[in-house]
Parts: sequence; C-alpha cells; structure tokens
Amino acid sequence: MEYKYPKFTPEMKRTHTILIPNMAITQFRLLRYALTYDGYKCEILGNCGSEVAQLGLKYVHNDTCYPALLVIGQFLDALNSGKYDLQHTALLITQTGGGCRASNYIHLLRKALEKAGYGYIPVASLNFSGLEKDSGFSMTIPLARRALACVFYGDLLCSLRNQVKPYENEPGAAEAMVEQWVARLGQTLLAGKGYTAHEMKRTFPAIAKDFAGIGVTRSPKVKVGVVGEIYVKYSPLGNNELQKFLEQQGCEVNFPGLMGFVQYCIYNMGEDHVLYGGAGGIKMGTDLFLRYLDGVERAMLKAQKNAGFYAPGPFTELTEKPAGVISMGAKMGEGWLLPAEMVELVQGGYCNIVCAQPFGCLPNHIVGKGVINRIRALYPAANITPIDYDPSATRVNQENRIKLMLAVAKERLSGGAPEAAPVTAEQLAGGAPEAGKTPATV
Ligand code: SF4
Repeated sequence: MEYKYPKFTPEMKRTHTILIPNMAITQFRLLRYALTYDGYKCEILGNCGSEVAQLGLKYVHNDTCYPALLVIGQFLDALNSGKYDLQHTALLITQTGGGCRASNYIHLLRKALEKAGYGYIPVASLNFSGLEKDSGFSMTIPLARRALACVFYGDLLCSLRNQVKPYENEPGAAEAMVEQWVARLGQTLLAGKGYTAHEMKRTFPAIAKDFAGIGVTRSPKVKVGVVGEIYVKYSPLGNNELQKFLEQQGCEVNFPGLMGFVQYCIYNMGEDHVLYGGAGGIKMGTDLFLRYLDGVERAMLKAQKNAGFYAPGPFTELTEKPAGVISMGAKMGEGWLLPAEMVELVQGGYCNIVCAQPFGCLPNHIVGKGVINRIRALYPAANITPIDYDPSATRVNQENRIKLMLAVAKERLSGGAPEAAPVTAEQLAGGAPEAGKTPATV
C-alpha cells in the first residue's frame, strides 16, 4: 500500500515544534529568531556524536549522500531522545531545488521516518524554489527577507570572529562579541525590525566597529580557506569540527559566506536562460533579486574593509573567477562556485585550502578535486587538499592529511619555500597554462 505522508498544515504552525538540523551555526541561530517572529516554534538541533551517523546508516542506504545520512540520523536521534512531544513535533529540511540529490533528501527522510516508526511526523521544506507547494510552511516574502538578513548578519559575524579570534589578547573575546550580537540581533528580529536593506546597511558598520575594538596582537599565522559541499563545509557534525581543529593548529580560517551559495542558486536560474533559452521573465527576476542582494552585500563588505578587516569581492566579481578553470554551466552540487571560491581565497592571501567533500559526491569531486591541478597550475602558491567525509573515514586520517597541507603552509610562512606570485586575472582568463609548465604540486 502506498505510504501517504502527513502534511505540515498551516494549523501546525501554532501547535508543533519544528526541529531544524544545524549547518551554519551562527546563521541558523539567527534564522530561528526570524521563524519565531513569523509564528513558528522551532529548535535548532545540536545533538551530534557517532550515534547520529549510526542511526543514519541504519535507516538510509549507505550509498546515500553523507549529508543526508547525517541530517536524517540527527532527526531520528532527536526523536528518540524523549525530549519532544512527538504528537506535536515536525521536521524542517532544506531543499536547494538543483538537479542534485539534495532536492530529494525530503523523500529519503520520509522513508526513513516511516521505517523507524515515525511515519506520522510531518516534514516541511525550506526552499526558495517553490518545491513542496502544498506544505503549510510557506516561504513568504517577509520571511524570505528576514531569512536573507540572518544570512548576511551571520556571514559578517563569522568573518569578523574568524579574523579576530586567532589574535585576541583576551581569550574568548571574539566569541563573546558574537554572542552579544546574536542576542542583540535576535531581539531586533523578534521586534520585527533589522531586516530591511536600510537597517542592515546601518547595522553592519556598528558590528564591524565592535570587533575592531577587541584587543589583538597580530602575528603571522597560517591562513586557511575552507570550500566544499555546503553541508560538510559548514557543519561541525559533517566535517568533524574542522574549524576547531584548524584553530587548534594555530591557523586563521576563512569560510566563504553562505550568502555566496544563496546568490549562486539564484544566479543559476538566470544562467539557465542564457545557456538554454526559455522564459525571459525568470532572468529579469533573478537579475533584480541579485541586484538587491548586491547592494546589501557591498555595504557589508565595505563595513568590514573600513574597520580594517579583509573582505572578499562581491558576488558579481566571484562570477568572473571561474574563467579559464570551469564553465558556468557546471551547476550540479556546488558547481562553478567551488572553484570560484578557491580562486578568490588564493587571490585574497588564503592560499592554503581544505576542499571538504562527502565521499562519493560525484558533482563536488568534479568541481572540487577535479579542478585542483588546474588552479595549482594557474596559482603556484595554491596549497589545496581535498578531504573526503563519510561514516567510514576516520577523523585521524582526515586530520593527518590536513596536517600535511599545514606542514607545507608553515614552511612557506617561515620563508622555507618561496611562494610564487599569483597570476593576474587577464592571465587567468587567457586559457591553458604555458606549454611544458608542470602544475605545481604539494
Ligand atoms: S552535492 Fe553531493 S552530497 Fe550534496 S546532494 Fe549532491 S551528490 Fe549528494
């Protein structure tokens, strides 16, 4: 008999607690306030540990993408915990709307819930692409605006924290500043404010100024950028606390912002029109939307720079980075965004890069691991290591591989191995590296 899954109805907004898997921690904490303002009761899940992966393995096929396995395992672990009134609990999962399996996680989750005896728990979808149209959870324009503000604020807080923490005079000062601002922004969002472009543009410099006021002692540190599949890039559960590990190794880390991924998804909808034709209205709509985001993004980057911090270029510049590396038609998984972020990081001085990818994730192996030699050929200073994450990959193995990359980085930092100057954007656009030039290896 066909399984009829329960719908998340509009009435459940008042009666149900929605559980949300964690990914980008600061951005998602803020998102909770935006959802609360909209009338939803929700909780961001923090449960982790090996039980989560084991539960995922038990109820999802082990060939399934690692992020799906972890997210489903985390949900089941939470439902098993006894903490929730299961008759009044719902689950929220994100869907990218892309051609990759990420758009199908919701079906895998429903199947796993049914197998685990939780088939009556409704699942709602968080997406910007109109998937799951009959759901009582709807991405209204006001909610979308608030959610976007949460991503901007979260990205800014993370970027500033990451540039202050390794150098702070008083341990914990940067983290405390993040807490302070999350609480303050949370109250602002709960009051129905803080999300318009005007309000964000006014708030960004105040945030940057507060971080600039933290006492630091700047000394040369290994700078490491992290790119990869969106979930394992950000989620400490997915990447075995990669950020914590890198910071323990004395590095300054840079995770390109989540807004880049949001813009990438929107941009691709318009790019489909450029590449394949179709309704011109979509392209016009996505261009307008991107222009709005661009205005806010530039204000955020300017606030960072004016306060003395590093800020990458805006998204419009990011779209130029893949030239000579990969086609803009590469849109499965993190697509052209992944190499673009690698180039951006190298140009910004974050030459050491961890490319985090789920084992067996074909799209990201192509656009991640697959372009590393090309980027090394164009940028001999690039020191990139791809790291696979899956339930059978041990943390020790992953950390040892990263330590090898860091050994090269530390040698370069101490002047032991010269760093070649990056090529210019014109050279980058010029096609293949010179004949006979061997790609630099680590
Ligand atoms: S990007 Fe990779 S991990 Fe994510 S859904 Fe696609 S195949 Fe799976």
